[in-house]
Amino acid sequence: MVRAFGSGPWPNPVVRVQSGSDREDRIQGPNSAKLKFAKVLCANCNNARSQSFDLAYDAFTEHIHQNSKAIVEVGVVQFSRIYGKGWRDERRKLTRYLVKNICCRLAEDGVQIPQPVIQFMDGSVRYLQNLILEMNINMAKYEMGVHLRDAHGIGEGSLWMGDHGIIYDSQNSPLGTYSHLGFDWFNVDYQMLFGHRRGRANFFSGDTVKLERFWPQGFSTGDAVRACRDCNPS
Ligand SMILES: [Zn+2]
Repeated sequence: MVRAFGSGPWPNPVVRVQSGSDREDRIQGPNSAKLKFAKVLCANCNNARSQSFDLAYDAFTEHIHQNSKAIVEVGVVQFSRIYGKGWRDERRKLTRYLVKNICCRLAEDGVQIPQPVIQFMDGSVRYLQNLILEMNINMAKYEMGVHLRDAHGIGEGSLWMGDHGIIYDSQNSPLGTYSHLGFDWFNVDYQMLFGHRRGRANFFSGDTVKLERFWPQGFSTGDAVRACRDCNPS
């Protein structure tokens, strides 16, 4: 997704952007709010001791799914409302869940995972390096979800991943990767920068996360209905 690539500080010079694994953008199915990314994880990561990450993620998706309208309208999500007093620890587990999925994309495309990221995953390092993460709201997906529910009675939601881009320098060494992942309208843009760099995320600073609402390039309100195949048989 161009948006993720354009929104951060890539090291220079960027010579080549190669498109890596191209996931089906939408993974749909009954109960998919409950679906785990684990279903599409590599065996390595699936076997990692990560059940607590999965549980933190489950609680998060459940909350987002149940409070969808309010969260989108206000553009805010609050960790303590999901996790209670232990929200800092749970947020770290949720982050590890997301990072686990990001690492799987690297593994899938044969790109080496930076050591500090592995250390963050196994708990030996507390702070996340190399990664820039941003949670936000994809308004086109929100509108489509509302339409599918209200007009067609389909409320199962969906889970998806973006194309995986890999950035190379003039020596043909990878500088980083980028993509996005999410469910329903909830989106996480990410960039993995291999050069040593302190990571950051728009959900690290406190209990309350401000979620930017965005329309993907070329989309605007009303497109969901216009694009719906059931409402517009060709
Ligand atoms: Zn329709």
